[in-house]
Amino acid sequence: MEQRRSDGSLRHLITLEGLRRAEIEALLDHSQRYVCLPGATPPTNRALAGKSIGNLFTEPSTRTRVSFELAGRRLGAEVLNLEVQLSSRAKGESMLDTIHTLESLHFDAFVIRDSEPGVVAHVAAHVAPHVSVLSAGEAHLSHPTQGLLDALTVRQHKGGDFSRLCVAIVGDIRHSRVARSAYEVFTALGVGELRLIAPSGLMPASGEFPVGKRHFTPETGLRDADVVMMLRLQKERMAAAEIPDGEDYFARFGLTQPRLRLARPDAIVMHPQPMNRGIEIASDVADGPQSVIRDQVRNGVAVRMAVLEAVARARPRPS
Ligand code: ASP
Repeated sequence: MEQRRSDGSLRHLITLEGLRRAEIEALLDHSQRYVCLPGATPPTNRALAGKSIGNLFTEPSTRTRVSFELAGRRLGAEVLNLEVQLSSRAKGESMLDTIHTLESLHFDAFVIRDSEPGVVAHVAAHVAPHVSVLSAGEAHLSHPTQGLLDALTVRQHKGGDFSRLCVAIVGDIRHSRVARSAYEVFTALGVGELRLIAPSGLMPASGEFPVGKRHFTPETGLRDADVVMMLRLQKERMAAAEIPDGEDYFARFGLTQPRLRLARPDAIVMHPQPMNRGIEIASDVADGPQSVIRDQVRNGVAVRMAVLEAVARARPRPS
């Protein structure tokens, strides 16, 4: 799916694949201007005044949906959460009929989360030329704004030279769209070393994540890492027999203080949330001084403001 206009500008954001380093850096610079520190008044403007954005989430979401909503509103747009079914699971009205109905109501952008691969791109391929489509999470494949907010968080704490960094991604990499988008953004930014740490059942298929070095224990993989990115067990994408026992998983892969001490003393700890405390991560690590998990949430609004503005720029209105 081509996500650019014929002049090369970004019309949709469905994947980070193919985004150039300079483009990503420009989006991060733009996002940084919208970062709001705790207690401060959030920046607002009228960049999207008169525009309407429809949120279509057919998988559960708290942070992503709320932060897209806040992002649109802080730019002066009208944002509606639409209770419609998009995917082929929907009965009755077909997905495209639904989209065309919504278009007639003058939406300028749709933000879509769906558990089926391809739905976001399918919608993007069929909307009117002035409409943008943004992925808010596609199956296990892609979560582009999460990738950008993760890169922004790393940059804030570790500086912009990713070639000096060792990033360890830990947990259910196989089923994680967060890991795939993180891989795309960190490799585009020239990360020095990327490690994948998971039990064999949760490692991605061989051929995926080609640059990542695979480790089957945190004891080898976490050594001297600068960034430790934990992932949620995506039980909803596993067959019942594949779901690991929580206690056993924590004993083997959970991020505890002793394991974190294997990483560099100034390593940062990330988690996209929702967290399973005591399964993926110990509470004293999640809430500890090295955790930047709350910064990730804060950065989510800033990144989504920058992305909404970027795709809206130069968008022609229908006559
Ligand atoms: N919130 C993230 C996502 O939508 C991470 C997760 O659910 O594990 O993928």
